[in-house]
Amino acid sequence: MRVVGRQKAIIFFLALGICLVALAVALNVGWILLSLQEAAVLVFGIVFFALIITGLVLNTIFLVREIRRNEQHDAFLNAVTHELKTPIASIRLYLETLQTREVTEDKRREFYKVMLADSDRLLNTVEQVLQASSTRERNRLLNISEIELGKLLRDCIERVNTRYNLDENAISFTNPADEIKISGDKAELQSVFTNLLDNAVKYSGKEVKVLVRLKTGAGRKAEIHIKDNGIGIAPNELKHIFRRFYRVPNLSAQKAKGTGLGLYIVRSIIKKHSGKIFVRSGGEGKGSNFIVQLPKIVNSK
Ligand code: ADP
Repeated sequence: MRVVGRQKAIIFFLALGICLVALAVALNVGWILLSLQEAAVLVFGIVFFALIITGLVLNTIFLVREIRRNEQHDAFLNAVTHELKTPIASIRLYLETLQTREVTEDKRREFYKVMLADSDRLLNTVEQVLQASSTRERNRLLNISEIELGKLLRDCIERVNTRYNLDENAISFTNPADEIKISGDKAELQSVFTNLLDNAVKYSGKEVKVLVRLKTGAGRKAEIHIKDNGIGIAPNELKHIFRRFYRVPNLSAQKAKGTGLGLYIVRSIIKKHSGKIFVRSGGEGKGSNFIVQLPKIVNSK
């Protein structure tokens, strides 16, 4: 219902803008015809007309943007509330069952496992929200150390494997013979690759096949490719997905839970490390490939 209401508002303001532009054009043309002889007044009128039109166009663009932003904030609040409420409700249900019923040892263990997974999900959402606001506040790195990228990537893969209970071949990793080292904040870089791997799995549908490749790229940069065979990204969405709160508005993307903060956090952290991130996709249903470039430590091969 709300989406329909907003769309009506967008249509109303667009129609209003277009009507005002048409009215201004009609007024101006009539006025020019009436005062053809008075050249000075004509020039003045044209300038004035251009100003009115520019103002109207800017006004309409501003209104549409504001409506879109509000829409995204609402969607974000809904997503976060959902992401907070669902695991809490689930943990509560399991605790109530444990409190009120006799359950076998196996069931008890299973309940604990589900509750742990739910609390991980909860923690993940809270961390994302906190991280998104802290990346906005500070632009420098705090805990810099020398990091071996191969090891860091293997740790992140293991983490995501455990989180989604994946079999060993779901995420494959190719690593060059030589170690690639970079200088950076380990916790933040872990969050980058866990987020990208998490997305690759989340947007893969049923069959998860993710390829992670680490190599030395152009200009002696470390390059990490995270490629999936999932739902893919339409060409017109590629430039939007790194924005705060943005989630691709199609059904298959919306099926996966999320807040639209992950890639925003990822890009902010990579920027702080003087790196770059790109995404390539053949389009919807054709998988995605996220490529991260980070400056290598000079003496690493
Ligand atoms: P979310 O919490 O929604 O996953 P992100 O910022 O991580 O937020 O991603 C933004 C949007 O980009 C997602 O909602 C999804 O539509 C799209 N996206 C991100 N990663 C992938 C991927 N690997 N495959 C397809 N779409 C993706």
